[in-house]
Amino acid sequence: MSTTDSPAEQAAEPRFAFDNSYARALDGFYVPWQPRPAPAPRLLRLNRELADELGLDAEALAGPHGLAMLSGQRVPDGAEPLAQAYAGHQFGGYSPQLGDGRALLLGELIDRNGRRRDIAFKGSGRTPFSRGGDGKAVLGPVLREYLIGEAMQAFGIPTTRALAALATGETVMRDAPLPGALLVRVAASHLRVGTFQFVAAQRDPDAIRRLADYSINRHYPDLADADDRYLALLRAVSERQAALIAQWMGVGFIHGVMNTDNMTISGETIDYGPCAFLEAYDPQTVFSSIDAQGRYAFGNQPAIAQWNLARFAETLLALIDDSADRAVERASEVVNAFPAHYQQQALAVMRAKLGLDDGADAAADQSLAEDFLGLLQRRDVDFTLAFRRLGDAAAGNDAPLTALFPAADSAPADWLARWRQRSAAAGIDGDEQAAAMARVNPIYIPRNHLVEAALSAAVADDDLAPFERLLAVARRPFDERDADAAFAEPAAPEQTAGYRTFCGT
Ligand code: AMP
Ligand code: MG
Repeated sequence: MSTTDSPAEQAAEPRFAFDNSYARALDGFYVPWQPRPAPAPRLLRLNRELADELGLDAEALAGPHGLAMLSGQRVPDGAEPLAQAYAGHQFGGYSPQLGDGRALLLGELIDRNGRRRDIAFKGSGRTPFSRGGDGKAVLGPVLREYLIGEAMQAFGIPTTRALAALATGETVMRDAPLPGALLVRVAASHLRVGTFQFVAAQRDPDAIRRLADYSINRHYPDLADADDRYLALLRAVSERQAALIAQWMGVGFIHGVMNTDNMTISGETIDYGPCAFLEAYDPQTVFSSIDAQGRYAFGNQPAIAQWNLARFAETLLALIDDSADRAVERASEVVNAFPAHYQQQALAVMRAKLGLDDGADAAADQSLAEDFLGLLQRRDVDFTLAFRRLGDAAAGNDAPLTALFPAADSAPADWLARWRQRSAAAGIDGDEQAAAMARVNPIYIPRNHLVEAALSAAVADDDLAPFERLLAVARRPFDERDADAAFAEPAAPEQTAGYRTFCGT
């Protein structure tokens, strides 16, 4: 390299060790496609920690060659960009062809932990699946997906993550002109229930077998030699989904658009659209502007997960048994077992939140947990703060918890007495209990009003500082810091009452 090279020419080139199993194994389920180069890209945020986990050189990614690759201007060596086909039930109605209308899989690589990860674009232009859409994404939702994904990761909840957020340098027309953006997304895979629905609709048993075998090898390799491996796949997906939803419920997460194309086979949370977190506890809570019926309300999420699982089961019937009746019977058994699995996972989550061990009496612990939630619901108490302050009560200080209730209310004290009795009977030490609870009950969630404020500063004023600050807080949700006290405060009730989230990245 000569000394006259410009800084751009001297900069390191990112190298991706792509190994594209989807492109190799699933011919017919995608269209090879090129990203649209962003006209004037600007890197807004690079997830350096994730880059490192992926074995990528963060410095190189942040440099000019990295920018070209992250913005679709230059396809890195070894990438085989493609648009995946999928179908899906949206709000209960079936669409036979959805697919990557504004997204592309760039390629897959094996991360430092030996896990295969998809690197994908969202907002990379039109594809054969775009229907009427422009294939673009806008800044607010891209930053929301980045932020909420990192928060979920910090909670320990399986999730797709953002590797980078970029401004494309163009204006995109929505209800108003908005800054265009692009998200580089990392996922265990982008296999969805909707992928199976798309392939099953072709009524070609070899095709669905190919997809199922691919999914087993990629996400459930232990099942590869199982006798009944397709039934086992259904069971395994059911278990992962049950665990995932239980974890969502444990942090008050409302996905908002649990269509079958937004449910992964891996068990990761995907497609952060109109998602939001509960404040005052109420299972009926809905924030999404397009969910007028409350189909995807907070408390409906377990039932919807089961409904989606049934749609997944339908796609596997031909593989499960040669007899159609027998296949339905066997698949139904698994789908019908979902609520019990879910209950088990949800109880485990609630026991951890309440600082309890997995004692023998599940029913008693279940009602202890339900009664606590009932107290919160009756008094519109903030879900996140209540569990956090219950941790203070474990350490002997009831005041922060009771301060969340009206002064004359004796119900919290009665409940606390029951909870203490249960804890004491199990020989649980209060200080240890408090410490354990602080490891599972976040003090900071991305509160809706703060998310909105951060996104609007970015969109209206090109000011990313509030986003950066909120992201830093969200990435450390469990250790309470004086300087971040404002981030733990619920929104004013009137603000939450009027809060609406919107789809459309
Ligand atoms: P989502 O609501 O993000 O789950 O997307 C549902 C479907 O709509 C998927 O097939 C997307 O690819 C497609 N879609 C959403 N927005 C756009 C857009 N701006 N351009 C093209 N397709 C889109
Ligand atoms: Mg989607």
